[in-house]
Amino acid sequence: MTNKNSSHKKILYGIVAAIIIGFLTGGFLPSVAKQFSILGEIFLNLLMMIVVPLVILSIIVGITNLGDIRKIGGIGKRTILYYFATTGLAVLVGLVLVNLVKPGKGVTPGEKMPELSYRIDPSDVNSVIITGDKLKKTEYGDKYILVLLDQNLRGELSDVSPGRIRVKSWESIDSENVIYLKRKNGSEFAVHIKDKMVVSAEVQPEPKGRGIEITLPISDRILGKKDQSIVNTIKDVISGNKKEGREGLIPRNIFNAMQRMDILPLIFFALLFGSALTVIGDKGEKTIEIISGLNEAVMKIVDWIMVVAPFGIFGIISARIGNAGGFKEFLPEVAAVGIYSFTVVLGLLIHGVIVLPMILWFVGKRDPVKFLVGVGAPLLNAFSTASSSATLPLTLNAVEEQNGISKRTAGFVLPIGATINMDGTALYEAVAAMFIAQVYGISLGPAEQVVIFLTATLAAIGAAGIPEAGLVTMVIVLKAVNLPIEGIGLILTVDWLLDRFRTTVNVWGDSVGTGVIETLENRSAKKK
Ligand code: ASP
Repeated sequence: MTNKNSSHKKILYGIVAAIIIGFLTGGFLPSVAKQFSILGEIFLNLLMMIVVPLVILSIIVGITNLGDIRKIGGIGKRTILYYFATTGLAVLVGLVLVNLVKPGKGVTPGEKMPELSYRIDPSDVNSVIITGDKLKKTEYGDKYILVLLDQNLRGELSDVSPGRIRVKSWESIDSENVIYLKRKNGSEFAVHIKDKMVVSAEVQPEPKGRGIEITLPISDRILGKKDQSIVNTIKDVISGNKKEGREGLIPRNIFNAMQRMDILPLIFFALLFGSALTVIGDKGEKTIEIISGLNEAVMKIVDWIMVVAPFGIFGIISARIGNAGGFKEFLPEVAAVGIYSFTVVLGLLIHGVIVLPMILWFVGKRDPVKFLVGVGAPLLNAFSTASSSATLPLTLNAVEEQNGISKRTAGFVLPIGATINMDGTALYEAVAAMFIAQVYGISLGPAEQVVIFLTATLAAIGAAGIPEAGLVTMVIVLKAVNLPIEGIGLILTVDWLLDRFRTTVNVWGDSVGTGVIETLENRSAKKK
């Protein structure tokens, strides 16, 4: 065994141990575990520090290694075809599974009872006593809100029992009449305004009334994204978004793209720059030499970062589980939408363990198990960080050094893949959208499922390679088939966990892509 291989194995075992110990520490000692977040932050900073130089340098090296710049058309076509084919297959797996398992059946979106009389408990202003009729269900948790329809008030649920519903506090629905002020400790409270005067900081409901609704609120995280559509998203990717300062595919300012870590514009610039170097003769060749040297130096830094990866990953995992309240709070959350989570994870497993390896085996003519072990460290890192972009340095390093993929293919397939090829995200978006449809009892026929298929694929392309980006782009899928975006409230609390599984599949899809494209490229070169 070479030196490199044995140190790779050691790091891999180290990361596995870090994840297990991190889970246990976060699960059983949440408040201690939170203190380790600093280890995770240092590690993430190291990865982020290296992403921008690495993307630019590795693409320039990749492109100049193509030899003849016209060959970019060939590798480009194959890569795009691979991305679309595998993302499409992933969505298909998700759709078939969600139609079979039906995870949304039996989950309630809430209920509306406009005729129901209620009164407010005089000794507890947050408790509503239901008189006469009964609530149909009582399995509501704090994801739901209670609305007093005749008073325009709402409150997050704290307890529901037959005949009594308790909220945490009341707020006015009339958002025009509410402003939010910040307390010193950062938490917000609502102040109610009437005729431009402050009425009260706390809303007092009338003692009795008629008409209540239990429903899911639109989560704050997607509130600003309500108007997002597929056209806007694609437009943002291509021409940027001035309001958010986001650069498009063709950047106005490459330094802004670097600073924001918008990868796609950097790829575009690096492709142009690399192409230019290959056609300016002697000076170009000398510069290419220097850039190759710089690229190797950056890769060496990645090797060093790998050595501390187990500590960083331990910090990230333990702090994350600790912040979720340890096993005591986090396991019931997962169990509450257990069948949904099970469907997503099973779909990801089918795609990651059966579909992608078969493609690697039959088209890429490579041993999937060996290939998997080679990219073990980036996959575990993807699971730990939930970010394809932050994992990119490790992925590039592993496919080149462990799986023998050329810089030419890796430099081309991986950076683009980390931003637009997201099999796991696409699968999850399709399952989540269908789950929400099932919860609301909206039946979607084949035509609508085709729309989900297309929008989930595009929404995954639009999602950045950062944690929980897919949750936000899911609005696109829901809106395309008119599903209530409130439904996202049901899956919000487990998203950080599912994100880790889907990011792992995203990175695995990119890695398999390098094996497949390399084989196809070599084959076509031999034919010529
Ligand atoms: N976290 C995912 C990634 O980085 C994107 C997502 O699905 O949220 O690949």
